[in-house]
Amino acid sequence: MAAKLIKGAEVAAQIREELKKEVDELIAKHNVTPGLVTILVGEDPASISYVTAKQKTSHELGFYSIQDNQEPDITEDALLKLIDKYNKDPKIHGILIQLPLPKHIDSNKVLLAIDPNKDVDAFHPINVGRILIGNYVFLPCTPAGCQELINRAYGDPKGKEVVVVGRSNIVGKPMVAIMIQKKAGANSTVTCVHTGTPKDKIIEHCRRADILIVAAGVPKYIQGDWVKEGACVIDVGVNRIGISEKTGKAILAGDVDFDAVSQKAGFITPVPGGVGPMTITMLMKNTVLAAKAAAGLIKI
Ligand code: NAP
Repeated sequence: MAAKLIKGAEVAAQIREELKKEVDELIAKHNVTPGLVTILVGEDPASISYVTAKQKTSHELGFYSIQDNQEPDITEDALLKLIDKYNKDPKIHGILIQLPLPKHIDSNKVLLAIDPNKDVDAFHPINVGRILIGNYVFLPCTPAGCQELINRAYGDPKGKEVVVVGRSNIVGKPMVAIMIQKKAGANSTVTCVHTGTPKDKIIEHCRRADILIVAAGVPKYIQGDWVKEGACVIDVGVNRIGISEKTGKAILAGDVDFDAVSQKAGFITPVPGGVGPMTITMLMKNTVLAAKAAAGLIKI
């Protein structure tokens, strides 16, 4: 393999170490303990495992942390009242609603009810707007994790050709908004390709990317000969492509043909173990930022 492997778990551990110091200092110097509530509706096993991991990390960092489990038949009204309670709770700086919600609840209505200053997922339209105009405190966790990986493993993306494959509201679009900012760690020339882009053009754009970020949800989509020699390839995709007979666990593949692309790229994230481990860590970072903003230590 020619490419250097970008180990997300190691970068995430390093960021958590930095965050722990920041949390200890916030508590000691300012008497501010970052507070996070994760709200889980129902008993979906994947959602349970996600909120458990989020709670575990927030405890490790010394947060004030609440896991709020609600019955699957909670009414939309009751859930909105619960959010309002946490919006008003000064000990809570971050509110995370684990998605998906049951069908009888309008997820958009629920996400809109979260105080934007406590919206640590950064999905609220106010935060989406703040990101676009470059006047933001927090960024959506997955694209923010990609930016950290690029900066820490590859280096300054200023002036580089960045190509983003995919334009979803949670990954592709915010990724574009982040990388075009006239800010340190960004300031790139950004192209976004999607299903509206003819395939030959997708390949053409990918081939000139210094940094290729792929979030299409198509297993092994990006081929070895679509990638520029030495490029940095960030594979966001997590696709279940089968079940292991040995372990009974899902076999995962990214959106990049790893074996072929890693021969050509200079840097590459594996799946699993690349972007995935960064997401929870960025949620923790956002909660610390929200706590600092609430205490007037940074401007929101
Ligand atoms: P999504 O909502 O399905 O969006 C996929 C995007 O890719 C859409 O914009 C779609 O275009 C585009 N696309 C689909 N097929 C394409 C093709 N053949 N060529 C070019 N563009 C194509 O998915 P998502 O939520 O952004 O997630 C993308 C992947 O990342 C998934 O595998 C997901 O599991 C993974 N993911 C991982 C993490 C993590 O923490 N590691 C977090 C979030 C998502 P249109 O807009 O035209 O339909």
